[in-house]
Amino acid sequence: MSIVLETKNLTKTFGGLMAVSDVSLAVRAGEAFAVIGPNGAGKSTFLNLLSGLAAPTHGDVYLNGVRVTGTPAHTLRRAGLSRTFQNGRLFARLTVLENVMAGACPGEKQDLLGVLGARGSYNRWQAALEARAGDALKRLNLWDMRDKYVGELPFGVQRNVEIARALAAEAKVVLLDEPAAGLNLGERVALVNTLNDMKAQGLAVVLIEHDMGLVMSWSDRVAVLNFGEKIAEGTPTDIRTNPKVIEAYLGSEDAHA
Ligand code: ADP
Ligand code: MG
Repeated sequence: MSIVLETKNLTKTFGGLMAVSDVSLAVRAGEAFAVIGPNGAGKSTFLNLLSGLAAPTHGDVYLNGVRVTGTPAHTLRRAGLSRTFQNGRLFARLTVLENVMAGACPGEKQDLLGVLGARGSYNRWQAALEARAGDALKRLNLWDMRDKYVGELPFGVQRNVEIARALAAEAKVVLLDEPAAGLNLGERVALVNTLNDMKAQGLAVVLIEHDMGLVMSWSDRVAVLNFGEKIAEGTPTDIRTNPKVIEAYLGSEDAHA
């Protein structure tokens, strides 16, 4: 399978702190790729570098073989790379449908205004957006909730709306930052279904997750970060028995496996 997302020697420092250190990896089309590591290992920073939210201090990111280092997030989104956030970034006072339509937009603020303007009178562009958002909502069983305000929904449903928003952008590569965190059992089951569906659809997915059961059962490949460095990469079975990985988790007081 062809490589869709690649990093070469990716590095990010904050002052004297090396948050991501010389990380090279490649994610292939249709691959379920997990990034794990103890708290503070650099996982979210790594995702920020991949998604154009932060610029690396050193090293490069390639999307479909094209160097995209330093390219802003909304441009990458147009090129087929979408993400969710560890702490969620939905508009609480917009409906589920409006949030997902905003995600389906190619740009940022001006598109949100376009979505808000869509309340009432639709032009063709807005109708196309709604159709795409509707498809994503149906895939995630959220269609019945489309007119609910996001701020009134349970946390787990909000996380799911975030994934719908990423999918509505017609992403080919989706980056998920701890989507299982804070979910109840039923919500976790729904998430696993969604992740399996994404895999079946041939999307490349990069999943950051602390839920080891989920990581080990879903991933094709796992990379492990510790103090910003990639200390291991391989199949879930390789990773589970890798002495360096075991040490990284046992050696870190706040690590939760
Ligand atoms: P993880 O997601 O694996 O828990 P992070 O990527 O959030 O780790 O953080 C990696 C390290 O970088 C941590 O030590 C964190 O405190 C630091 N860090 C993250 N973002 C910033 C920032 N914007 N400014 C300074 N330090 C940061
Ligand atoms: Mg994080």
